[in-house]
Amino acid sequence: MIQDFFRKDLSDFESYNAGKIDYKVRLNANESFNNLGAATRRKLGMVIEDSIYNRYPDAGALQVCNLYAKYAKVESINVMAGNGSDECIQIIAHTFLNTGAKVAIQSPDFSMYGLYTKVAGGIPIEFPLSEDLKLDVEGFITMANREEVKIVFLSNPNNPTGGTITRENIIKIIEGCRCIVVIDEAYFEFYGETIVDKINTYENLIVLRTCSKIGLAAIRLGFLITNNVLMEELKKVKPPYNVNAITQSIGSVVLEEPKIIYKNVERILIERKYLWEKLSCIDGIKLYKAEANFILVEVLNAKLVKEQLLEQSINVRSFTSGVLENCLRITIGSREENDCLLNNITLGNDNNM
Ligand SMILES: *Cc1c(COP(=O)(O)O)cnc(C)c1O
Repeated sequence: MIQDFFRKDLSDFESYNAGKIDYKVRLNANESFNNLGAATRRKLGMVIEDSIYNRYPDAGALQVCNLYAKYAKVESINVMAGNGSDECIQIIAHTFLNTGAKVAIQSPDFSMYGLYTKVAGGIPIEFPLSEDLKLDVEGFITMANREEVKIVFLSNPNNPTGGTITRENIIKIIEGCRCIVVIDEAYFEFYGETIVDKINTYENLIVLRTCSKIGLAAIRLGFLITNNVLMEELKKVKPPYNVNAITQSIGSVVLEEPKIIYKNVERILIERKYLWEKLSCIDGIKLYKAEANFILVEVLNAKLVKEQLLEQSINVRSFTSGVLENCLRITIGSREENDCLLNNITLGNDNNM
């Protein structure tokens, strides 16, 4: 049987189901609601016309790394580009994990940490957040060291909770854990705090960033930022032409004019404030602190609310088990999309609830 050649440890894996994309209001994937402006898109048209298609792209993605370094206020030798930060997570897992190596993650946190750990043959050790979705920092460090993990992965702000870990506590984790510590700052722009200034202070720190939440999800571009020693090791594993030429060019055009990003973020933050205020006026919804481009809410029956929203072609992310039972993660949309959600979210007036 051909299945005899399959990996036994993958037998209960499922392919990532990103869901249908033809809903009218898509508030499920933490994308930006703003597309690039017409002038920028026209410029990109010219870039695409002038591209060289018969040659491999720059293996080091030098130009876009230089521009990102400037944007992140680090040196370009400390920046590696990935096909989305997803790929950076995968590169980290494959660089540092042998079969059976352990990795510490919070539960809940971004699901790709556990997935790529397992694909690399490692074992994710989950540390549950408290009922109010906070991390017991000391407990986490103790667990990581007791289990002798090779890597800690943490998103800050956390996806899906939206919660944050203070700088002081992030430093405690970096200093306290005897392993590689990866701080995933996918939502940095909506939070404003970063630990990227410490990459040369700590030998074990890697920071992840992405362009996906700030308006460029389509091109798949993420970055890994770390010190020279870790960078040299990671480069051994990075696929040579992992970021295609078009993505490199488009990323460069946008990063050459970071105002495009700042303006987009500003609009998202205005809508976050609006949506938060409106949601907080609705009885029967509990809101969690929102420091990213989404709001996590708790309702009485998330499954029912989600179904009712889907009937109106509004998609949000729902959770049905664990500490997130009856939680919905709602990405910040445009004013029109947010109003559509607010007008259609029905709570408490249903006999089932
Ligand atoms: C969205 C997200 C990513 C993935 O970003 P890509 O660059 O699109 O691969 C990584 N980490 C977290 C925490 C995210 O929420």
